[in-house]
Amino acid sequence: MSPVIGVLALQGDVREHLAAVSACGLRAVPVRRPAELDAVDALVIPGGESTTMSRLLETFELLDPLRGRIGAGMPAYGSCAGMILLASEVLNGRPDQKQLGGLDVVVRRNAFGRQVDSFETDLRVDGVPGAPVRAVFIRAPWVESAGPGVQVLATVPPVTLTGAPAGRAAGRAVAVRQGAVLATSFHPELTGDGRVHALFCSIVRELTAAA
Ligand code: GLN
Repeated sequence: MSPVIGVLALQGDVREHLAAVSACGLRAVPVRRPAELDAVDALVIPGGESTTMSRLLETFELLDPLRGRIGAGMPAYGSCAGMILLASEVLNGRPDQKQLGGLDVVVRRNAFGRQVDSFETDLRVDGVPGAPVRAVFIRAPWVESAGPGVQVLATVPPVTLTGAPAGRAAGRAVAVRQGAVLATSFHPELTGDGRVHALFCSIVRELTAAA
């Protein structure tokens, strides 16, 4: 049977992620309850506000079941706040925000600072063939450091699309993969380019076929 991908529907661009997964030819369903989580083979965690999402995960009694599924190898893709939630450690977070784990990285929340708080640039992403990916960053995190099992798939180029030097952001990792877990600092659901979702769908197909 073809795998079903859930989209965590507590906050963020849920509709856009559902559409992007459907465009890959897989069934996509919103997930808001533990029983809905039980019924999916993989999960997309959208952007939003990681501190709020962490609180909502507890309110909706999803935090522990989701940690359990990710720990057991369920494929997950986190964008922006989703990346923050998947990280093992957060810098510049709130002391009470909770982590799902799954990704052996330290992320810095709101890393790009006020001047370039939100911006777009084109990135080469390993595993995404063809032209560079237009990446939209909105109060995004970056990966400050990554463990040995983590592949860096994309880094910030030295000059952004608008011609502004990326400064201390240059070279920072903004797309990573560790086994079944994929994460991007940016929001591919906003551009109509489905190739990052297609990468996730291919990871899901590969890993669920092997299971
Ligand atoms: N700054 C947000 C956070 O800390 C993430 C922003 C986003 O997901 N677009 O969670």
